[in-house]
Amino acid sequence: MTKVKTSTEYVADSGAHCPVCGSENLEGQALEITRDGASHDIMCLACGSSWVDIYTVIGGTDHLSRYDYLSINGEGGPEQDS
Ligand SMILES: [Zn+2]
Repeated sequence: MTKVKTSTEYVADSGAHCPVCGSENLEGQALEITRDGASHDIMCLACGSSWVDIYTVIGGTDHLSRYDYLSINGEGGPEQDS
């Protein structure tokens, strides 16, 4: 099993490393501005995982607040309860 960082661990690290493999070899896609802040698609060039950084505006400044998985190791994300 792959140990994947929790959102809290990822944010504490400022999103500087892949939450799946820990690589710094990340590539950001286009930043998308949303009603509440912004979202930023990130892909890990080392393991092929991808996720979305979610930024929330706090006191007029965008802060990385959490991330959502898109895929892990290029295959689907974890099971989602919906
Ligand atoms: Zn990775």
